[in-house]
Amino acid sequence: MVNAGTLRPNYPLVVVDSLSVNFEHRESSIAAIEEISFEVGAGEFVSICGPSGSGKTTLLRSIAGLCELTSGEIRIHDSVGRDGAHRIGYVVQDYSSSLFPWLTAFRNVELATRASKMNKSERQSSVEEALELVGLAKVGKKYPWELSGGMQQRVAIARALASGAQLLLMDEPFASIDAHTRFELEDLVKSIALARGTTVIMVTHDIDEAVYMSNRVLGMNGTPGKIVSDYSISFPFPRSQIAVRSDPRFVAVRNALYTDLQPARGDGESAATMAQELIGFLRKQKCQFAGGREEAEKFSAGETDIKLSRVIIDSLAAIELCIWIEDSWGIEINPDDLFVFESLGQLVEMAQNQVHGTDGR
Ligand code: ADP
Ligand code: MG
Repeated sequence: MVNAGTLRPNYPLVVVDSLSVNFEHRESSIAAIEEISFEVGAGEFVSICGPSGSGKTTLLRSIAGLCELTSGEIRIHDSVGRDGAHRIGYVVQDYSSSLFPWLTAFRNVELATRASKMNKSERQSSVEEALELVGLAKVGKKYPWELSGGMQQRVAIARALASGAQLLLMDEPFASIDAHTRFELEDLVKSIALARGTTVIMVTHDIDEAVYMSNRVLGMNGTPGKIVSDYSISFPFPRSQIAVRSDPRFVAVRNALYTDLQPARGDGESAATMAQELIGFLRKQKCQFAGGREEAEKFSAGETDIKLSRVIIDSLAAIELCIWIEDSWGIEINPDDLFVFESLGQLVEMAQNQVHGTDGR
């Protein structure tokens, strides 16, 4: 953890409690996220960062009420801590499906203001302001298909801003926007959220963006996805892109997250897969068998209750195996220690325990 949070109000706006989501398809079941719990305080800007497939979109959709929960629950309170009425703005990952093609950019944005208490002219100016903010004041009359991908995404952002939502959920909102515009939009969204006191949960796979924009970054990793880290980012706002990104504290959090979000070697692999990899390697070594035929037959059948000492007959082979284990599974092991394992299966079990983090995360 890096620094205690500076912006953690007394009550949580969003509570995610032991959430798991599985996708069931006929015969199979895919566990997308497992046992996720966290709270987001009113006014916080929280980023959820993780590699592709770690369940970020599933988590965000769950918070938006767009996904059936397998277990656990999500509670969303209003700004004074009551359950119930709240408006959520949602910017989806796939901009091409998020705008209505038969409506102009202006109408698309205006749609989001319909549920608000504003009268017509207030709504009109709210839409104009939002389009102006994202640099699209001049294209209100154009249809989505007349706009570039980045511009369409900006319309989607304008729509979320115009709605006056108290809670803004954004899924990779800047992924399709060029670097320069992206920096501008990051600053813009952040400053609007600050000025309005909007609570934001933003999904991104960009670690720098997550750290730069947020009060807090949650790291997700693994299959099924879990929260693997939770960092408070204590820099005051407004932040400057250049000054913050070169600050050693920024670099420290970014590097820590980078490590947390590495796909752990062998993560998600079953013991059976790892055993097959190990046997495959040993086969390539054309190893010999001190144990005779019975052992050799078991080995060719892919069984793992074979003594390593029977397979590895010289120290060179042991060293080769240690190098392979480090390269494949990211685990350092001393050649002498190989022989404490009763069997190949035990070696795999040790490797699994290490890879799946009995290191406290
Ligand atoms: P991310 O946004 O981090 O890339 P997702 O939440 O999209 O991850 O997906 C997490 C996992 O859930 C992936 O394995 C994905 O294939 C699976 N998944 C997501 N949506 C569905 C769905 N509707 N049906 C089946 N599997 C899904
Ligand atoms: Mg996604």
